[in-house]
Amino acid sequence: MHSSGEGKKQTRNVPIKTFVSDSVAIPMSMHIGAPSKPCVQKGDKVKRGQVIGEAVGPLGLPIHSSISGEVVSVEERLLFGGAPVVTVTINNDFTDEWVEGIQGHGNVETIDPSLIVPIIRDAGICGMGGATFPTHVKLTIPEGKTCDTIIINGAECETYLTSDYRLMLEKPKRVVDGLRAAMRAINVHRGIIAIEDNKMEAVQAMREAARGRDGVEVCVLRTKYPQGGEKQLIKALTGREVPSGKLPLDVHTIVINAATAAAIADAVIDGLPLTERITTVTGAVNKPSNLQVRIGTMFEDIISACEGYSEEPGKIIAGGGMTGPCTYDDTMPVTKGGGGIVVLSMKDAKCAPESPCIRCARCVEVCPMGLDPFKIKNFCLVGDIKGAKDHYVMDCIMCGSCSYVCPARRQLTAAFKEVKTAIMQEARRQKQ
Ligand code: SF4
Ligand code: SF4
Repeated sequence: MHSSGEGKKQTRNVPIKTFVSDSVAIPMSMHIGAPSKPCVQKGDKVKRGQVIGEAVGPLGLPIHSSISGEVVSVEERLLFGGAPVVTVTINNDFTDEWVEGIQGHGNVETIDPSLIVPIIRDAGICGMGGATFPTHVKLTIPEGKTCDTIIINGAECETYLTSDYRLMLEKPKRVVDGLRAAMRAINVHRGIIAIEDNKMEAVQAMREAARGRDGVEVCVLRTKYPQGGEKQLIKALTGREVPSGKLPLDVHTIVINAATAAAIADAVIDGLPLTERITTVTGAVNKPSNLQVRIGTMFEDIISACEGYSEEPGKIIAGGGMTGPCTYDDTMPVTKGGGGIVVLSMKDAKCAPESPCIRCARCVEVCPMGLDPFKIKNFCLVGDIKGAKDHYVMDCIMCGSCSYVCPARRQLTAAFKEVKTAIMQEARRQKQ
């Protein structure tokens, strides 16, 4: 599927602006792994960067306050998909005072490499491209495995989103610094920054920032959805194929999103935990924008900052148009993995219900993983998890292409996500 600029025109040339709201609602579950344990109570005064949620379990991450102010509640709230998640709500006192003890190392080239992974963990960094996998775990190489290449995913092939593009254009050095920190942390000598050929201004900015930096190269990819899928990127850049059921590390590669790289640089250079991110706000809003917002900022506040809805919203997507989870209201907060808020009008949301499969095979044609989405969906419909697994549902990269092209508007990707989650939960249960 060709994606040249799909839905990106509205915000592509809009520089990043900062927006800070009156309050934030920070969920204790924003990463893959057990939810963090809240360590503040109603009435507590907190400072920016203060830990408000402690890491739990091997994939756990700490969560930090993204503003200074007063905790007004610690209670369950419904998040995407309707799941209740403990959420800490904080009213802003607008002093923006950082917690004591914030101290950076100044330079990613001179820091002791053994300090880098713990810094990334303590900064609460996870994959900010939407995958939300804890970055320090990704950068911990298990016994018997090796890594020789780190790829920075600057493809941003997702429809509508321009947050990574603006980041690479406006703060290219941060991305290179993050890559270099990751390379030094695990002693890797090749770093590739991958950008699609519809973002040549970003390519130029990144090339300038990468000049003279050890082992760093910028590679231009043909614009093609879903080029940004890890396995597609690795194949296009290194020729290595990640086998079914395997991880990038099995072909000696790690892929990190561009925003995540910048967060690593912020943590290592300035000692800053992850408390903000760039989010593209677009679609049916009056002032489409790329906003730097604090984690936990409510969609409704962000949409007001973008001068409100331009049409009655039919659907709001948290993330990109193809893979982001949908919500039907704007009382959701920005999370660490949320690179966008895409408002689809009633007309664009294709609010029509699913209809039966007409066996047109379009979903098969577009699937980058060579799967049979219509067959897998049939297994999902009857709850046959084994059937879905036998038809390689675990290889689905959730790119959304099949749902996008389906003339029957069948919710294919959503069904695959559900069944994949069920399979992973079962696997975890069996390990315990
Ligand atoms: S099954 Fe659908 S969502 Fe999954 S990889 Fe194939 S096209 Fe993408
Ligand atoms: S694209 Fe939709 S209608 Fe066509 S075969 Fe796939 S599931 Fe069926």
